[in-house]
Amino acid sequence: MNDRVILPTPPPILKNQQQEIRELFQRFVVPSYGRFNLALSHGAGSHVWDVSGKRYLDLGGGIAVCSLGHAHPEITEALVEQSRRLVHVSNLYYQEPQGRLAQRLVGHLAPGKVFFCNSGAEANEGLFKTARKFGHDEGRFEILTAVNSFHGRTLGGISATGQEKVKKGFEPMVEGFRHIPFNDLEAARAAISPATAAILIEGIQGEGGITPASAEYLLGLRKLCDEKRLLLLLDAVQCGHFRSGRFQSYQRVLEGVAGAEGFSVDGISMAKSLGGGFPIGAFWLRDQAHGVELGQILGPGTHGTTFGGTPLGCAVALRILDVIEREKLADNVRTTGDFLHAEISRLAEQYPGVVRGARGLGFMLGIELQPFDQIAGFKREETVSSLQMVNRLHEAGVLTIPSGTQIVRLLPALNLSRALAEEGIQIIEKVVRSVA
Ligand SMILES: *Cc1c(COP(=O)(O)O)cnc(C)c1O
Repeated sequence: MNDRVILPTPPPILKNQQQEIRELFQRFVVPSYGRFNLALSHGAGSHVWDVSGKRYLDLGGGIAVCSLGHAHPEITEALVEQSRRLVHVSNLYYQEPQGRLAQRLVGHLAPGKVFFCNSGAEANEGLFKTARKFGHDEGRFEILTAVNSFHGRTLGGISATGQEKVKKGFEPMVEGFRHIPFNDLEAARAAISPATAAILIEGIQGEGGITPASAEYLLGLRKLCDEKRLLLLLDAVQCGHFRSGRFQSYQRVLEGVAGAEGFSVDGISMAKSLGGGFPIGAFWLRDQAHGVELGQILGPGTHGTTFGGTPLGCAVALRILDVIEREKLADNVRTTGDFLHAEISRLAEQYPGVVRGARGLGFMLGIELQPFDQIAGFKREETVSSLQMVNRLHEAGVLTIPSGTQIVRLLPALNLSRALAEEGIQIIEKVVRSVA
């Protein structure tokens, strides 16, 4: 793997200003996030430093965003080179980087078209609008989504999300979304109404606790959608972009499965890893679906966004794809991901009082923990195992991401080396042992 040492730039703030930075947030930033007590200053590869100079191994990857780690020289180069030529032009004009990036993304999927936007929620909004347009003339508008799903924080996104906690206080929801149990084909069949136009699922549920869609579910949904003339839509904002070891998670899940030849979904939303930290989102639509030219369905004037597909964002995303391909990072995700998964399973065997098991695949992994009151070394006054574990891992020098109450997620950079994966597991094991 790319083990070249990148020297970090010195921290802009030299003394420990953790407290001062926190106070700025308390006074001036909308308090919509629960934040950990950590102020980060700079990073290099899979390491980040806080303002006091403490180093952390970053296994959270900015929630599956920093696909090449921090301060990657080729991302910097792409940013600098492109910004010397054009940062932004309106979508009233053509420009090469957007066309090239669309071509590269389509090349990993099936014949289709790509629309560029700025975030995952916005990419999903595009899929919702596509489904509405697709069903419109037949009076169909409804989109089925999964229980425990996550689709973003816009009004459409929280309406689509199958978790009450994101909706609470913001009702009424946008009409036309209903939730079905995930990985349950019969429930999907039973839920379809004459108004249903599409089914949207995550390839691997992320915020809901790292649950991959099974091969049978994917194939069954495809058949069901073909039978009922529905669009099969995939939210790949977290699980896409090689995080599974293939460009899309279904490509990995369906490997070698009988009857999966030629499988495709009809639309895919992307963001997170696509820009490696530069904000860019996209959705892909298949050229043809149920005899409709789906790739042409959003004609001139029907959809748009000012910043969508800027030359700068597209140049960065193109360079990231170059690095992923040149350094065979999909293979790294697969082998190093398998290693991490096996090690988490080993921890579950050795410390069953703390770790229940391993979840996920590739670099989208979950450490499933026991409930807080069953873990000997955990505090009884804090009722969430995942948060207690993430905090202890911070103390030990590793960044991870909680998911729900009992799962700690690992979403590292796609170029995380085997050596750093081993180091990460050693630190995790030390912490697990200390609370067993
Ligand atoms: C993060 C995420 C989103 C929302 O993306 P934003 O860029 O935060 O709007 C949507 N769907 C899934 C599966 C996600 O993980």
